[in-house]
Amino acid sequence: MKSYDIVEWGKPLQLQVRETPQPQGSQVLVRIDACGVCHSDLHIQTGALDLGNGRKATFESIGVQLPFTMGHEIIGVVAAVGPESDAVVGSRCVVYPWQGCGRCHACRKGREIDCENGAALGTRRRGGYADHVMVPHTRYLLDYGTLDPLVAATCACSGLTAYSALRKLPDMEPEDSLLLMGAGGLGLAALGLAKGMGCERIVVSDIDDDKLMQAARGGATSTVNVQQSDAGAALRAAAPAGIRAVIDFVGSPETVELALSVVGRGGTVVVVGLFGGALPLSTALLPMRNIELKGSYVGTLEEMRDLLALLQREPLLSVPLTTYPMSQINDALGALATGKVVGRLLAIAGE
Ligand SMILES: [Zn+2]
Ligand SMILES: [Zn+2]
Repeated sequence: MKSYDIVEWGKPLQLQVRETPQPQGSQVLVRIDACGVCHSDLHIQTGALDLGNGRKATFESIGVQLPFTMGHEIIGVVAAVGPESDAVVGSRCVVYPWQGCGRCHACRKGREIDCENGAALGTRRRGGYADHVMVPHTRYLLDYGTLDPLVAATCACSGLTAYSALRKLPDMEPEDSLLLMGAGGLGLAALGLAKGMGCERIVVSDIDDDKLMQAARGGATSTVNVQQSDAGAALRAAAPAGIRAVIDFVGSPETVELALSVVGRGGTVVVVGLFGGALPLSTALLPMRNIELKGSYVGTLEEMRDLLALLQREPLLSVPLTTYPMSQINDALGALATGKVVGRLLAIAGE
């Protein structure tokens, strides 16, 4: 099999050829059709995540060994199954990549995303920038029915991340505004989904006018370029009855600080972006203003199932999709690194 791997941290991916593994036990071998290219891959590729205040978490310290295959938005076809698997060879599927150890309390309760020994595809175990991927169990293979296969792929990370963050919001009245910070692939996915999940007034902020234009076309009630000195005032003005909730898809100290300063009393701030860094937080501010500050990391298997069902009833995702041949995966990652990509990129296997 072929894969495009990190061979050296921080360097372009390299083509690696090795024997295609045979599925054992409950394993399922999936022949990959396409894999979404995620902004988080740019972080993984560097080998470390910035935790702020000079602290870094390296991927090596959590057991990621090189060469390593990234890619976690995988669609494909079941190619071979282990003797204990009931997966059907030839069936099409989208893979839930956020797998846990399967044995701990969190895993047994269906919260594999909270497993302390997570074994996610493309971030801990070999993922989708390849022609095949090994999936440990058929329960991670989801049928995407009539959904566009490429849209289904994006449901494994960007769609799921947006959906799970939206499920963490308080009840939104028609006058309440939701602020989405960041109009990249995730922000646009959340914009589409939010309207189908009861949010009527949606303000989108970014520092890129092209992305904001895309958000306006996608149905944002208003858009605000926050690269201005009075960004807070502009955001408040865009939400006459107040900002009830914020989802921050950037996650920089500046955006979280801005989110906390503009959200209304009793509001919720959900941080999703992994930009990294740290900020001094006024601890009295949270109780005095009755603010809820929480993080949201991708989503559960059940949420992904719900999302796929929702999208088959209502085509809420209108994120522009751009494809690259898998052999040009480095070009796709490079394009993403410029910060100029509108929508979502996918690598098509076999090309
Ligand atoms: Zn991702
Ligand atoms: Zn576990």
